[in-house]
Amino acid sequence: MKKILTFLLSLVLLFAIIYSPDLVAKEASSDLEVHFIDVGQGDSILVKSDGENMLIDGGKRVASEIVVNYLKEEEVEDIKYIVGTHPHEDHIGGLIEVLENFNVENIMMPDVLNNTIVFEDLLNAIERENLKIKKPLVLDNFNIGNSQATVLAPNSKKYSLTNDYSIVLKLQNGENSFVFTGDAEKESETEMVEAHKSILKADVLKIGHHGSKTSSSAEFVDLIDPDYAVISVAKDNGYNHPNKDILERFKDKDIKIYRTDKDGSVVARSDGENIQFTKKIISPDVRDIFNGISEKLADIKDNLFIKYLTKKIKPQTM
Ligand SMILES: [Zn+2]
Repeated sequence: MKKILTFLLSLVLLFAIIYSPDLVAKEASSDLEVHFIDVGQGDSILVKSDGENMLIDGGKRVASEIVVNYLKEEEVEDIKYIVGTHPHEDHIGGLIEVLENFNVENIMMPDVLNNTIVFEDLLNAIERENLKIKKPLVLDNFNIGNSQATVLAPNSKKYSLTNDYSIVLKLQNGENSFVFTGDAEKESETEMVEAHKSILKADVLKIGHHGSKTSSSAEFVDLIDPDYAVISVAKDNGYNHPNKDILERFKDKDIKIYRTDKDGSVVARSDGENIQFTKKIISPDVRDIFNGISEKLADIKDNLFIKYLTKKIKPQTM
């Protein structure tokens, strides 16, 4: 019996090491979940509220499987809104397979074309699904479950940079709010500062353009004034993302930064008053180990219980 107890204790310890509290995605009874999915270099954000879902970007085409599997694991079947923030591959590439695997009600993209095969393939996929692209107007509103999304950008019809066409959304859930910037750069940020000064403040900012120095201008960050910021970026990405000075700008303001290259997929849960961040393990290896241990523990527990019932062993106090 002592041996079994020692074995059980060491398993519990092993659990504690693999699944430190920081890494466990806690089940909170919250209204809104925002999943910043680790897709390497690119963006993909799943928003879940009261049974409705929105997907902001789908990562690169090579990340399609990651995104589709992530959504399936989250038991997503219907997507009320897909938002393709702008037509660059690291944002729209994965959306083609998402359209093929899920029931999508609406797709929203800015009024700009891109001369790439992936963009053409996306347009074809949208047509196959009999969808029509919605081109948002500034201050348009729509609901995802209990939360309300408002379009903050683009504020102009023409930009010199494709990134500045990025659809920027503010999502409000009770007192909690998020701003998702796509790859909007300084020109779009300046327009938002001028046009929407009074509504920019948010608790969480998805940092623009993977933390590049061409986004996150001081005035824009000052007005958002977030407690948390998230950067969606790959390790050793070759673009020098995120930029050191930009990271400093957020650190100087004591804004807690989560990065998908370091933290993996990150989930923010909001109950309308508070926001709690957790990191989600998506490594299949770690998951397999965890599932293996869970099954073994269940077997041991069952065996002990059967032995106890058949009085082969006497219960002991620890
Ligand atoms: Zn990008």
